[in-house]
Amino acid sequence: MSSKKMLRFRNTLAFRLTLWYAGIFTISSCVAFLLFYTLITSVIRERTDQELLSQASQFSTVLATRGLAAIEDFAVLEAQAAGVKKVFFRLLYPTGQAFASTNMAYWKNIGVREKAVGEVLRGRRQIFDTIVLRDRGDEVRVLYALLAPGIILQVGQSMENTSRFIDAFQGMFVTTMVGLIALATGVGWFMARRAVSGVEAITRTAQNISEGSLEQRVPVKTAGDEIDQLAMTFNQMLDRIEKLVTEVKEMSDNIAHDLKSPITRIRGLAEVTLTTGKALGDYENMTASTIEECDRLLDMINTMLLISKTESGVDKLAQDKIDLSEIARSACDLFGPMAEDNGVILTCDAPSPSPLFGDPRMIQRMLANLLDNAIKYTPSGGTVTVSVSENEKKDLVATVRDTGIGISESDLPRIFERFYRCDQSRSKPGIGLGLSLARAIARAHQGEITVTSRLNQGSTFTITLPSSEPTKEKTA
Ligand code: ADP
Repeated sequence: MSSKKMLRFRNTLAFRLTLWYAGIFTISSCVAFLLFYTLITSVIRERTDQELLSQASQFSTVLATRGLAAIEDFAVLEAQAAGVKKVFFRLLYPTGQAFASTNMAYWKNIGVREKAVGEVLRGRRQIFDTIVLRDRGDEVRVLYALLAPGIILQVGQSMENTSRFIDAFQGMFVTTMVGLIALATGVGWFMARRAVSGVEAITRTAQNISEGSLEQRVPVKTAGDEIDQLAMTFNQMLDRIEKLVTEVKEMSDNIAHDLKSPITRIRGLAEVTLTTGKALGDYENMTASTIEECDRLLDMINTMLLISKTESGVDKLAQDKIDLSEIARSACDLFGPMAEDNGVILTCDAPSPSPLFGDPRMIQRMLANLLDNAIKYTPSGGTVTVSVSENEKKDLVATVRDTGIGISESDLPRIFERFYRCDQSRSKPGIGLGLSLARAIARAHQGEITVTSRLNQGSTFTITLPSSEPTKEKTA
């Protein structure tokens, strides 16, 4: 592995998790071993000390009952019974000098500790000592005990068996630990890989998306863990981004298409006039048509800008106290002649004052767009009714109802999109931005606009606005 790859590997979450797992496992195993080791050695030592004390007490009894002469024989017998390499006995004067002992050939390196003898004489009943035999590497546990005034017993017991047991224990521990650490590392690596595999899948998907394939999704398992939740959130985000990108693409296609048509018309007119037009009147007609098309274009561009500004809340709306009923009545007055020309009966039902805080010009424009549509899409002989009232939550409700061509169920969810026009209304003039603007204005006033419609039976647009409360924040 190259050093760069090695560095990358060392920085991976899986590697670090494994390291932590193996490290914590090793440390806790060592602590457990140390505790166990300390416990075992102290139990063994205690047992040895008890044995030494019991021997000292037997010596005291023999001394008291059978006298000093019998004690030497007793020592030899005891040493033989236990094994001369296992225990030794020495009887000492207060000076520390030995006056009797068992066979000391095996124990010749063990002397008498004067300090221990002194302490026994000063009143301490027994003193324990541990001596390490350098040549054999064994430990010997030694007891100094006062048997009678002026007679001190030194008894020693080899700890060779204990040392062997502890050595075996240590060897077993090291072997087991090496195996267990290897196992812990393997298990840790497996678990860490499993944990991060979900994150890796998300990273791979994100990489593929950054290379341009927006339709990819992260596979979601059924575990319902944090990684699954992350994957689901990531997929939801992708759904939304894909939808937005599609919308932006559709919108830019629509804008390009809608800008192209008038420009193509202007160009065609100018070309025809240039090649065939001779009289001044032809040029005057061309100029008039060009102005008309340019006005249409400007209107479209201005409306698009207004929708964007209203949706983003860049321009603060006016916060005047206005009467929605009054605005509805004056809109009806304004559209009266147009309704009459189209043979449509226009009625207004907004008798009582309906106060609200908002931008009067924008509210007028919203109502005007709905009224314009209602009259435009209602054949001669139909009716359009504008009404203003209050609902049970005390919100203001303005409705524009017509008996016109209606909107099909499949078109209904899309009519508020920019540039969307239903097929049956394409014969009428329009650019498909009126309802988008109306909805942006309603929302900027913390309100909403909804529609119900039936094909060939008519439509009802309903605007709901909070009454008399200043608009806190403009939201799109
Ligand atoms: P347009 O300039 O085309 O009227 P709008 O955004 O105002 O654009 O409306 C979008 C589309 O919704 C219209 O093209 C039309 O198909 C449909 N629509 C709107 N209002 C009505 C209505 N009152 N009756 C029938 N169809 C309507």
